[in-house]
Amino acid sequence: MLQHARHRIADMSLVEVSRGCPRRCRFCAAGHVYRPYRIRTLETLEREIISNLHPHNKIGLLGAAVGDHPDITHLVHLIATHGAAAAVFFLRVDTLSEELVERLRESGQRSFTVAPETGSERLRQVIAKDLTNAEIFAAVALLARHKITRLKLYFLIGLSCRA
Ligand code: SF4
Repeated sequence: MLQHARHRIADMSLVEVSRGCPRRCRFCAAGHVYRPYRIRTLETLEREIISNLHPHNKIGLLGAAVGDHPDITHLVHLIATHGAAAAVFFLRVDTLSEELVERLRESGQRSFTVAPETGSERLRQVIAKDLTNAEIFAAVALLARHKITRLKLYFLIGLSCRA
């Protein structure tokens, strides 16, 4: 998961994009408790975003798996084209694309939090976080190409595997 936390939530209009998560990381409630993963339609989201838009304000796009929404790039771009800033809190690195990062940067995103959870691919497999080190490094390189260089890393403490 990849998160962004540069904006104060109190200063934003918040729009829920989706609920739950289609992944099943073993340590995470969102992937188990809030099933099934549900997304709001593009039409509904556009209407809600536009009704919350004011020049120079910030729209926070909420959801545990915002990056899995098929229209996330379009929504970030929509916010930017209206002179507002988009804030996305949760994005897995494997949902990033060149275009999405470009749109996030355009809409004011300057930092991200990446959640490898552990440095070990083996342990990541055990907790069902299906990201490889190569995917994480590729995402960091992608962010750096777009001059998003302030990164925070999240790790789980106390993981061990006897198998
Ligand atoms: S991808 Fe993120 S939100 Fe989804 S189950 Fe894994 S840790 Fe939870």
